[in-house]
Amino acid sequence: MADQRLAGPNWQDEDQTEGSLRPRLLREYIGQDKVKEQVEILLAAAKGRAEALDHVLLYGPPGLGKTSLAIILAAEMGANLRMTSAPAIEHSGDLASLLTTLEANDILFIDEIHRLSRTIEERLYAAMEDFALDLMIGKGPSARSVRLNLPRFTVVGATTRLGALAAPLRDRFGALYRLDYYDPAALGQIIERSARILKVPIVAEGVSEIANRARGTPRIANRLLRRVRDYAQVRADGNITRPVAQTALTALEIDDLGLDMLDRRYLLSIIEKFNGGPVGVETLAATLSEAAETLEDVMEPFLLHLGFIARTPRGRVATRGAYTYLGLAPKDEQGGLWGANLPPV
Ligand code: ADP
Repeated sequence: MADQRLAGPNWQDEDQTEGSLRPRLLREYIGQDKVKEQVEILLAAAKGRAEALDHVLLYGPPGLGKTSLAIILAAEMGANLRMTSAPAIEHSGDLASLLTTLEANDILFIDEIHRLSRTIEERLYAAMEDFALDLMIGKGPSARSVRLNLPRFTVVGATTRLGALAAPLRDRFGALYRLDYYDPAALGQIIERSARILKVPIVAEGVSEIANRARGTPRIANRLLRRVRDYAQVRADGNITRPVAQTALTALEIDDLGLDMLDRRYLLSIIEKFNGGPVGVETLAATLSEAAETLEDVMEPFLLHLGFIARTPRGRVATRGAYTYLGLAPKDEQGGLWGANLPPV
């Protein structure tokens, strides 16, 4: 807590408001209609049988509502929620102490579940299947294995990378839900809800201006709303109108599509330094002085969603849309073939 205060007032403020903006019940969870419908069925069925929920795996880019959904699952089931993330489970002992404190029907939320070490992963999926944990007691020749029975609990895993999860662990999840980018209408509803909670006056045009630039991501929508609120308070009369939102977001260097300097540098690098690609993600990351993981997990999914890049076996390729967006002549108009769909010539 003290550390947080040292890190500056904004940090703590934003942390607390992030909490207050989280939807707590399924009916407050906006958008993701297909997932919501399936979750409703899953919940009703488990409640009807008075059983623990099946293990649930949530995947999709950061900020789309995986943690929120896990909190909702626990609230709707009336179950206790234990939250952790894979990097915090380093040793088998860490996992054992988590699992042995669970009560029947409890939900164990594991964020970034693709980061579990192989050993922990194996122990976890055995526990998920058998509701038992094998512990080694003692060392050397006198060591013996003791089987500990666990109550029927539920793992809710979240990951930005489904592909990085070992198949046996993935197979232990009875329900897999993919969260997708939100459309501007759903984001608009999220912004209106957050504005009501934060008591920020905002008109419909202000809402849509922020919604259009929020990269289909509720967390970014809420963050932009807070930044625009600051601007409206300091530079205007506190009301978020379209011009206020536009000026504030332009000052933050976020353009009409929600792309920022780093996105533009990324696209320009592929086009100018690597002739439109293909270029490997590690090479791109080195060029931009960013971690390859940040590119893969945070930036690229949205650029793929916009159709500005394509992933090919030989690396990333800038599409015609990227050239047009940057106001450059597409490669095919410069002569020669290009593009993700065409075989290399
Ligand atoms: P993730 O775990 O996928 O990174 P979070 O669940 O932490 O994402 O969501 C980030 C923030 O976005 C939440 O604090 C919440 O305020 C908001 N949010 C996410 N999904 C929704 C939703 N469906 N409806 C309303 N707000 C949402």
